[in-house]
Order: sequence, then structure tokens, then C-alpha cells
Amino acid sequence: MKPVGPIPPEFVLQQGDLTIAGRSASSWASAATPLFVYDAAIVAARVDRFRAALPSVDLHYAIKANPHPDLLAAVAPLVDGLDVASGGELARALAVKPAVAISFAGPGKRDPELEAAIVSGATINLESEGEAARALTIANRSGLTPNLAIRVNPDVELRGSGMKMGGRPSPFGIDAVRVPALVRHLVASGANWRGFHIYAGSQALDADAIADTQAATLALAGRLADDAGHVPPLVNLGGGFGVPYFAGDHPLDVEHVGRRLGEALATRAPVLADGRFAIELGRWLVAEAGVYISRIVDRKDSGGETFLILDGGLNHQLAASGNFGTVVRRNYPIAIAHRMGDQPTETVSVVGPLCTPLDRLGDRVALPRAEPGDLIAIFLAGAYGATASPAAFLGHPPALERVAS
Ligand SMILES: *Cc1c(COP(=O)(O)O)cnc(C)c1O
Repeated sequence: MKPVGPIPPEFVLQQGDLTIAGRSASSWASAATPLFVYDAAIVAARVDRFRAALPSVDLHYAIKANPHPDLLAAVAPLVDGLDVASGGELARALAVKPAVAISFAGPGKRDPELEAAIVSGATINLESEGEAARALTIANRSGLTPNLAIRVNPDVELRGSGMKMGGRPSPFGIDAVRVPALVRHLVASGANWRGFHIYAGSQALDADAIADTQAATLALAGRLADDAGHVPPLVNLGGGFGVPYFAGDHPLDVEHVGRRLGEALATRAPVLADGRFAIELGRWLVAEAGVYISRIVDRKDSGGETFLILDGGLNHQLAASGNFGTVVRRNYPIAIAHRMGDQPTETVSVVGPLCTPLDRLGDRVALPRAEPGDLIAIFLAGAYGATASPAAFLGHPPALERVAS
């Protein structure tokens, strides 16, 4: 038997039928399975918690975590900005938020993407000097003043982070030593310089590690602004707030992050005195709001083990199979949807329908007994689920997505 991750607080105390946004899983699943259900009220609760803990910084939603249009429409009014990473995400963001509140990061932006951002008025977080030159050329040609920020490849990294994106050679951002010269060049070229974007990592659960990184990021922003001789209107301090996916993970103490950031802001460099600060979050806002529901198609024994075979698998929820950025495969929280709170009575492996041994969503997990026709719920499915999975692989239909708001 292998442990599973913690069921999110909104679901863990439920008994009997799993209820999502007041409606049972079987009711959600009555039209078709597999499906994702996202409860926008849970996202709103996370936003409220962030606001209370970090009252003096802007909150941006990094939409690549979950860009479902109905979810975006529900989240957009609650946050100060949307961070996008492609022309496609830019279009989705512009449908729900004014361009002044949208920033566009990501390496390899193509000319039409830069043009779409400039024409709309969104801020481009520049990832290289070459990209800066192309953006300025496009803006000149269209007679527009571009909103340009600089994504800095910081000389700090986020300790304990699942995915490190700073402190080393990187396709993301411009090396810190080269940033002040580029700021001066952008300002001299007549661009509207919007400030810095400094992102050091993802999926951290250690509040002090996040706070240390934020303090170092703030200090770096101060040094760069002083060197450049210009005041950044906005410093995006990155994000990296994680969620507990696996056994032994503990939820992030966001209030502690807030207290420590408050202290760091109180002693910030004078050049940053009047600027704004933002934190950009993806998974912390939406992961726990989503449940992936699939139906058991078959139950079989092999070599003394029992397998529950579902109608959906890694084609929809790659991350739960351990194949999306994890080194060691571990079990996401999982439940039989009409037996919440029941004692486990058997150890089973829960697998998807794909012809690959990678398609395992629960490896030797202890569950109450379930039969074909029953529903399996996999939690933490609100971020990096439907759009981060190879839906075309093996040609099964895509999962439905439903937003309860
Ligand atoms: C992916 C990404 C995010 C969101 O990361 P989460 O771990 O989902 O919070 C934020 N900012 C940037 C620059 C990213 O690449």
C-alpha cells in the first residue's frame, strides 16, 4: 500500500456522496464522464485569504494553470491582473480583463504575438534583447507606444521549489547584469517602461523559503533600478506558492509569507518607494478547486493485485500519473466518489484506459471497495489538468469541463 496526498479542506470531511459546489459527483457526471469540475467559490476563498494575508500587493492570476473561459470569467474580477504566456492566452485574457491589467511573458514570442500585445496595450515582459528590438520595431511601424517590462533572470532561486527558474543559465528572462542597460535603452527609445518581472520558481510549500526569495528579489529590483537610474512603476515579485499534492506535504503558511513580505517592503530601497508590487499565482488559486471525475469501466485481478480501470487517465490528467514535472511518482489524493469517509477495505491500482504502463493515476492505494460503474474522484485537478495533458494521445474524447460559479 502506498500513501495518497491530502484531500483539500473543502472535501476532506465529507461523508457519503462527494459534493462539489452543492451538487453530488454522480449528478455532475450524469451527462458524461470523464469530466473536470471547477468550483469558483473555492478560488474566491483563496483570493480572500491572499488579500487578508498580503494586503499591500497586487494579485495576478497566471492563466496557464487553468485558462478555461468560464473559470477566467469568474476569476478575472477578483484579481488585479492576468499573466499570459502566448497569443492564445492573451486573446482569452482580453475577453475578460482590460489590457492595462494584462502582462505577457514567455520565451519565443512571435512577431504577430508581440503585435497583438502592442496593439491591445498589454504589457510585454521582455525575455531577451532580441525580443526587445523586435517589439520596438513593431511599435514604431504601427506608431504606438509599447508597454514594456523586463523579465529578469534573477541571481536568486527559490529554495525547495518544485521547478526552479532562476539563478542559472535560462531561456527565461534577461541576465540581471544586462538589465540596467536595457532599461535605459527602452526609455531612450520612447517605450513606456513598466518595470520588472522576476520569477524564481514554482510549487514551494516552505513559507520562509518563499519569503527569503521575495526579500532577495526586492533587493535585486532595488539594485537594478538604482543602476538603471529609473523608477519601476511595477515590480512583479514572482509567485511560487505551492499546494500539498502528496502524503507528507503541508499547506503553505500564506499568513507567514505575508508578515515577512510586509517586513521586507518596510525596508525596501528608496528607489522602490512609490512603485507597486505584484505576486503572480497559478496553482495556489485554482488547483484545489478542481476535481477530475472518471468512471470505473473494469475491475480485474492480475498476479494478486487488483486494478480499477477508468474511462480516463493521463490523457486528461497527466500530472496525477506523475509524468508532468515530478521525479518520483507519488499518489495524488483519490477517493471513491460515493464513499467519502468510508474506511478502506482493499488495496488497488487505479489506471486509465491508455495502452501504456505510464497511465496509472493511483498506485496501490487503499480504498473502499468499488465496482464498474462507480465514480473515482482525483483531487487537485484544477491546475495543469485538461490543458496540460496529451488529450489527443490514443484518440479518446477530451474530458468535459464544468465550472460551478
Ligand atoms: C507557470 C508560471 C506561473 C504560475 O506558476 P504556479 O506554480 O502555477 O503558481 C507564474 N509565473 C510564471 C512566469 C510562470 O511561468
